[in-house]
Amino acid sequence: MVMLDAGSTRSTRSTNLLEVEGLRKWFRIKRSILDILHGKQEGVVKAVDDVSFSVKQGSTFVLAGESGSGKSTIARLILRAIEPDGGSIRFAGRDVLSLDKRGLMWFRRSAQMIHQDPYSSLNPRMKVISIVGEPLEVHGIKDRREKEEMVFKALEEVRLEPVEEIAYRYPHMLSGGQRQRVAIARALVLKPMLIVADEPVSMLDLSVRAEILELMQNLKVKHNITYIYITHDLSTARYFGDSIAILYKGKIVEMGSIDDVLNEPLHPYTQALIDAIPEPDPASRLRDKVIRIRASTSISMDEANDHGCRFYARCPYAMDICREEPKLLEVKNGHLVSCFLYKSSV
Ligand code: SF4
Repeated sequence: MVMLDAGSTRSTRSTNLLEVEGLRKWFRIKRSILDILHGKQEGVVKAVDDVSFSVKQGSTFVLAGESGSGKSTIARLILRAIEPDGGSIRFAGRDVLSLDKRGLMWFRRSAQMIHQDPYSSLNPRMKVISIVGEPLEVHGIKDRREKEEMVFKALEEVRLEPVEEIAYRYPHMLSGGQRQRVAIARALVLKPMLIVADEPVSMLDLSVRAEILELMQNLKVKHNITYIYITHDLSTARYFGDSIAILYKGKIVEMGSIDDVLNEPLHPYTQALIDAIPEPDPASRLRDKVIRIRASTSISMDEANDHGCRFYARCPYAMDICREEPKLLEVKNGHLVSCFLYKSSV
């Protein structure tokens, strides 16, 4: 079986930490009585549909797309917060989906998550020392002194100082940026190999975003951490990512190195996303747009899920052949796209 690889990342010499193959998660939609009376059958949303990629150790792999594209569902599947309907996940050479209880404990230590909202993800009734120390207890580190040392070390790593003071504060006594640093310290305290960061800066002020991303970048270099960075914001993806997959309605439509995909986007959807990035230069703001996507009206969600290219209803280049489903093919070295406008290079 061929593993699709995002190709020439900035960490090409390292090995794959994570390999995802044919991952699938479909959700049933319940119909209302009115729908049933109108003859509509029970529907299915293919939230994640045959998704494959690999992530090199010490690199940042970006999952990008609009809300509903499946990126957060993929994160939850990888971390085994929900079970897939099909596919495989290998982490550090081990089959994640068939781990026994002990193996699962090892996996849960090695793969951590940072959530989007630093306001709701931290328990407001717990002090920082307990929030950051909780995962240590869960994983059997109960000695008070040892725990305190590890928590203080993690707080130092995320530059929350003086640590002795911050450790005894409650979340409401901290700014949004400080709270997200606490969340990072909590993810870091067990020295994970992989951190899945789900829109970690989207709820922060612009001025704080760059600081948090810089902190995460420094931690990556220092500890050889691998990130899966989930975002709808391609400008932070460009700063933070090594390779990227663009998702649309549960499918990867384009994948490759950050530079290849963002500098030379091939899929009409990727082009539209890049075109939508706000342009700081007013002169450039007036330039002709590369592409305008059509409003999705002519095809229902179920139809789009079941037949052909999922971007068909919105694509200005749609052709008859697009009623069949395009495959994700390598069209340049390490640059893959799922669109009939391009031919495979191999
Ligand atoms: Fe557009 Fe067809 Fe390409 Fe889909 S396969 S993105 S409909 S040109």
